[in-house]
Amino acid sequence: MLLNGRKTADTLNDLLKLKVDKLNKKPRLEIILVGNNPASQSYVKGKLKTASKMGMNVNITNLPENALQEDVESVIQDFNLNDDVHGILLQLPLPKQLDSDQLIGLIDYKKDVDGFHTMNQGLLFQNKLGIRPATPQGIIMLLDYYNIPLEGLHAVIIGRSQIVGAPIAKMLLDKNATVTITHSKTKNLAALTKQADILVAAIGKPKFVTKDMVKPGAVVIDVGINRVEGKLVGDVDFDEVNSVAGYITPVPKGVGPMTICALAHNLYKLYKEQEKA
Ligand code: NDP
Repeated sequence: MLLNGRKTADTLNDLLKLKVDKLNKKPRLEIILVGNNPASQSYVKGKLKTASKMGMNVNITNLPENALQEDVESVIQDFNLNDDVHGILLQLPLPKQLDSDQLIGLIDYKKDVDGFHTMNQGLLFQNKLGIRPATPQGIIMLLDYYNIPLEGLHAVIIGRSQIVGAPIAKMLLDKNATVTITHSKTKNLAALTKQADILVAAIGKPKFVTKDMVKPGAVVIDVGINRVEGKLVGDVDFDEVNSVAGYITPVPKGVGPMTICALAHNLYKLYKEQEKA
């Protein structure tokens, strides 16, 4: 069965819009885009479009490819100090001359809509309330929407990045799944993935997960976004794996729209926290 991220995101976004419509003031998101990376430009456009449709106020600050660390710092600091700004998003990756960790650390964690700040990562790893990274949060929202039980199931994650692999592992653990994290140094990967009731692929390699790596009936979540000959392809060989998986996310229209949906929900949450303070 298809886990339709597009439809789920549309439904959840419509519900969020009803809440946003009732607010006196609009939640405001500031996106900082440095340079001309075409993939980043397209992601930013998607975020702008969705959040604007929901009645949120979204602005993009576009800095040149050769921007200096202090140029980006000064934009972040202005937004940190502006009480009308509820969320700040620094679109990654940044050009090589910039230190992204330092810049993310500079964002007020109470405006960290992406959940990448050390403080929010710490709150996640202590299982305390905070902003969760949007992609793993979107995956959890999708699994919840389809009422897929997680407790006691074996989740295998391929990938251990700070933005997807590591946080989704912790979030599935917090849902009482038994979690195995795998990566590029893992030996006998297929032997592990074949045990997965839930398999999350966050690798960045087109069609990496093949049918022989998947247990029949498994829930397969494909996070990958790879451009192959002008087409978007996931980390899972969809056509093959679809025939064995119990549930599977497509690419596109799977995890991508759920990520933006989670981002909008994060912004609403930040707004509520700041406006009540
Ligand atoms: P990273 O490059 O940061 O991490 C990739 C991970 O995959 C690493 O942990 C790496 O291991 C692991 N890996 C690489 N090769 C292998 C291998 N042969 N076997 C097992 N593991 C391997 O990528 P991200 O986590 O940022 O993104 C992953 C994918 O998800 C990309 O395609 C990205 O575009 C996409 N993405 C999609 C989003 C969405 O909204 N749908 C949002 C964010 C990302 P090691 O740590 O050992 O190097």
